[in-house]
Amino acid sequence: MGIFLKQVDYTYQPGTPFEGRALFDITADIKSGSYTAFIGHTGSGKSTLMQLLNGLNLPTKGTVVVDEVTLTAESKAKDSRLLRQRVGLVFQFPESQLFEETVLKDVAFGPKNFGVSDEEALSRAREALSLVGISEELFERNPFELSGGQMRRVAIAGILAMQPTVLVLDEPTAGLDPKGRKELMALFSDLHTKGMTVVLVTHVMDDVANFADQVYVLEKGRVILSGSPSDLFQEVQLLEEKQLGVPQVTKFAQDLRNRGVAFERLPVTIDEFVEVWLHE
Ligand code: ADP
Ligand code: MG
Repeated sequence: MGIFLKQVDYTYQPGTPFEGRALFDITADIKSGSYTAFIGHTGSGKSTLMQLLNGLNLPTKGTVVVDEVTLTAESKAKDSRLLRQRVGLVFQFPESQLFEETVLKDVAFGPKNFGVSDEEALSRAREALSLVGISEELFERNPFELSGGQMRRVAIAGILAMQPTVLVLDEPTAGLDPKGRKELMALFSDLHTKGMTVVLVTHVMDDVANFADQVYVLEKGRVILSGSPSDLFQEVQLLEEKQLGVPQVTKFAQDLRNRGVAFERLPVTIDEFVEVWLHE
């Protein structure tokens, strides 16, 4: 399942003194099976855009097309409800939304709420928890007794238990230690390999280069650049001026290039670097 945004504007609280325009003329194509990254500074509109992908926000202007469902400013709750299950949105700090008294109940809540039987909801919850690496002895624990990283996993399992075909991740590794970050990124990569369409908001350019196949750069509510990570990260100077940066290995290669080492193209992953190095 792919998502296509056409000339989308989004304004918070239109027609009030608090009116705030967050997105301007966004056109983006998130292909089925892709791993698409969105980058940009705080306030550039990333979270607003992520909430358009599952119908939580409706465009103020323009259209969001998800399969046979087209969302516009006039769409009804029924249409966005349909998307809520298919497009799983993991918010920033999703653990803040845990609320049930046991881990298992919390993860089963979503599917239950969508009309799945209790038994089926619990079985999906078990499956999702095992996918994110939460072991069975934690199933009956209170989610608030878990570590930060475990709580994050439980929250993600809650979305996976809905069996979405698109997984939207809004800064999913923010605040985790390097090990927790690495493990979560490996989990998303694994889900992508199994066919899930993944949309990732991140500040980590190495993750963009290592995992994404396309990337959009947002600035003040507009898409200012897009393309494959390998093309985009050739623009070292521009991305540094914008204080977004490039992958570490790209920066390293750029430094070498400035000292006279010839690189036809800058590598964006370690694998690419090794490849270039061995063939020089
Ligand atoms: P990002 O996720 O890139 O940091 P956001 O989508 O959160 O950006 O914010 C984009 C713009 O919309 C910002 O100017 C922000 O202040 C504004 N904004 C975000 N959420 C709301 C809201 N609930 N009400 C009003 N304005 C908001
Ligand atoms: Mg945000």
